[in-house]
Amino acid sequence: EKLVYDFAEGNKDLNDLLGGKGANLAEMTNLGLPVPPGFTITTDACRVYLDTGSQPPELAAEIDEHLLKLEGTMGRQLGDPADPLLVSVRSGAKFSMPGMMETVLNVGLTDESVHGLAAQAGGDGGERFAWDSYRRLIQMFGRTVCDVPAEAFEEALDEAKRAKNAESDLDLDAGDLRGLVATFKDVFARHAGRDFPQEPREQLDLAIRAVFDSWNAERAVLYRRQERIPSDLGTAVNVVAMVFGNLGSDSGTGVAFTRDPASGRQGVYGDYLANAQGEDVVAGIRNTVSLDELEQLDKASFDSLMRAMETLEGHYRDLCDIEFTIERGKLWLLQTRVGKRTAAAAFIIASQLVDEGVISLDEAVRRVTGDQLAQLMFPTFDLSDEPERLAQGIGASPGAAVGKVVFASARAVELAGAGERVILVRRETNPDDLPGIIASRGILTSRGGKTSHAAVVARGMGKTCVCGADALDVNVASGQFTVDGTTVSEGDVISIDGTTGRVYPGEMPVQDSAVVRYFETGEVGDDALVVAVHRLLSHADERRVLKVRANADTPEDAARARRFGAQGIGLCRTEHMFLGERRELVESLILADTDTDRQLALDALLPLQRKDFEGLFTAMAGLPVTIRLIDPPLHEFLPSLEDLSVRVALAEERGEDPGRDRRLLAAVRRMHEENPMLGLRGVRLGLVIPGLFAMQVRAIAEAAASVGLAGEDPHPEVMVPLVGAVQELETVKAEALTVLDEVDNTPHTLIGTMIEVPRAALTAAQIAQAAEFFSFGTNDLTQMGWGFSRDDVEGSFFSRYLDLGIFRVSPFESIDRDGVGRLITIAVSESRAIRPDLKIGVCGEHGGDPDSVHFFHEVGLDYVSCSPFRVPVARLEAGRAAI
Ligand code: ADP
Ligand code: MG
Ligand code: MG
Repeated sequence: EKLVYDFAEGNKDLNDLLGGKGANLAEMTNLGLPVPPGFTITTDACRVYLDTGSQPPELAAEIDEHLLKLEGTMGRQLGDPADPLLVSVRSGAKFSMPGMMETVLNVGLTDESVHGLAAQAGGDGGERFAWDSYRRLIQMFGRTVCDVPAEAFEEALDEAKRAKNAESDLDLDAGDLRGLVATFKDVFARHAGRDFPQEPREQLDLAIRAVFDSWNAERAVLYRRQERIPSDLGTAVNVVAMVFGNLGSDSGTGVAFTRDPASGRQGVYGDYLANAQGEDVVAGIRNTVSLDELEQLDKASFDSLMRAMETLEGHYRDLCDIEFTIERGKLWLLQTRVGKRTAAAAFIIASQLVDEGVISLDEAVRRVTGDQLAQLMFPTFDLSDEPERLAQGIGASPGAAVGKVVFASARAVELAGAGERVILVRRETNPDDLPGIIASRGILTSRGGKTSHAAVVARGMGKTCVCGADALDVNVASGQFTVDGTTVSEGDVISIDGTTGRVYPGEMPVQDSAVVRYFETGEVGDDALVVAVHRLLSHADERRVLKVRANADTPEDAARARRFGAQGIGLCRTEHMFLGERRELVESLILADTDTDRQLALDALLPLQRKDFEGLFTAMAGLPVTIRLIDPPLHEFLPSLEDLSVRVALAEERGEDPGRDRRLLAAVRRMHEENPMLGLRGVRLGLVIPGLFAMQVRAIAEAAASVGLAGEDPHPEVMVPLVGAVQELETVKAEALTVLDEVDNTPHTLIGTMIEVPRAALTAAQIAQAAEFFSFGTNDLTQMGWGFSRDDVEGSFFSRYLDLGIFRVSPFESIDRDGVGRLITIAVSESRAIRPDLKIGVCGEHGGDPDSVHFFHEVGLDYVSCSPFRVPVARLEAGRAAI
């Protein structure tokens, strides 16, 4: 089919085919806005080229045809020596990838046509302009098409300026630029191994090919991975007649926004640079002026620009950003798109547009994202006086954290316990570091990416994390890290920015998040951002079908989750209640040889558990609280084999009796498992350790009874983990029902199960006969569905998998719709066929992940459950999914 489209043939909805830039150039053309004529080569053509290494055979002829037409419109021929048509060759993919790919301007200039261009422009200014344009072409073409290092040209330019004692490029005259062209051609020939091409059509073809190739430039690949943009879309190529901002002081180029993209404030914003070509504005070669000053300089062009911006905002019904050029007092538009904006601006603008009657509230909610809301919930650094940076890593979990550097988890816990703010710095973290991670304000690692352990854990907890700061040389043993010759020791203060990945020395001032203050207090006030967040989130709440619960293990977390809008607890992990001082009781339970000893240990745990649950039921009064019976292998509660061996050996050496340690050591040896995550855990524990689950159910029942008697309204739900067969659940259920029966005043208590073993998903119809609710444990379901050990694979081969496009994002971060998602779909439809009223939810990382929330909405779950900090994000995304 057709591989080349004239601007007049396209429109904004064709961005799959024409890329965002091409589609919007077409749209502007058809709106009658002043766009230089041109045409777009489709992404189809690019994909063929990228797949096969050569352009589709029919492309050349189509380009010829459209070029001929363009030449006709312009009344000039490409590179004509007497009066050359010049064009730009510009990348432009479906999703904007700012500055990641390539563009070449002034294509068509040669040793001959440079004279023609000068003559057409006229006067001495014309000479200067023509040579300036030519040196730019050689520079951009060299860099982009022939990989000439940018510095080689920059050094030559600097040298020319030095020779002239020139402050900026404007101080170079026609003669200087002509000399520079000669130098640039030498530089080009030296690095490219050929002379600068003098055939205009060859320039054009090579530039088109280079733009195709720039799809796979390293930084473009990296950017796509970061932004989860598919790697196989390819870019379109736009060939656009040049207009010139470097024709003198009555010309120039600029960028403009129809609203402030940083704050969302109404009014136009932009930068303008006189006597310059496109790239100069962003490259920062000279200081730009504001649009207000443009109004002083050239009122007529300014007015045209204002009218064009009004047209665009009215048409796109959103903030637009624009690239424009003024050529001798005539305005040209070179690009527009619905502009990128900060998270705060996104909310404010969407709300403004509702006030202006431009969009509906539904549309406004569709236009903001959970990721943006999450960003707004973290405190931020105040960067007003451009601080010096220590290192750059990957922003893995947003936020602004300040604290003393520590290198060990235990030390972090110790200092935090003493009231210090700490940043845990490691090469990478592992599950053993969890206490340290929890105790720290932020995590900084020198290895690993966005799916590394540190990153995933930190995101889940809403904790700031910068990972993969590979310039850091971390030496845990000496308690130091070095970076670029600077040494930072334990106790030194650093600041890390989890949004930008930047690391700063010392304490950076931070600002509180107004949005979190609003969630905490419920007070809206008059801050424009808070007003907008409140408005859009309330509307999302009205629209959504999914309920949102929280994963919370403590009354404090439960209370916060409730303030953040949680409609219950979807997952309370009871194992967290077996840590600390209670560890010894768990040890006694494990060491018990007789029923009596075991019962003693369980009896000691019972009142402690009961008290935990009372707190939770009170904090969540009136709302459901799902409590999962103990899940991890019990040996996780025992000291490590190494520690015990050393302790026993030392005691024996000193001639002492290791006593309990010896028995513990024997137990650890006995309980050792090669694959503990597939071993004795979850429901299996309940089946082999008599009384353990019964004790937990009794604690739940008694707590609910006493909270009920105190006048509150508890809604307990008992959840059995790791069930793979209905018989497992039936056995535990029978035991639980007996206990519930024995306790007086127990409110109605649901008994249900997690669906986290693939077999459970596939036999969901059977399991549903014994369960009053299901909750998908998507972490384990992903782990067992893919056969990926969650604790091992992310730092190991996931980056290769991402490179290969096996997945675009870790399946532990965002639900794998095709595989794990299918297990979920099967389980939902087959269980509901048996039991239409079955309540089904999800707990685990995915419950707070925006894409996954949409999936859970689509398959018809009743609720998602996520960490308290993700609750507002899930509320918003559930609303967006329903609109
Ligand atoms: P990017 O996608 O990196 O912004 P562009 O393709 O938009 O790259 O082009 C880079 C710069 O060159 C922009 O400032 C653009 O406005 C300018 N430019 C592109 N084409 C032309 C043209 N035909 N005439 C004048 N300036 C142009
Ligand atoms: Mg651009
Ligand atoms: Mg699990």
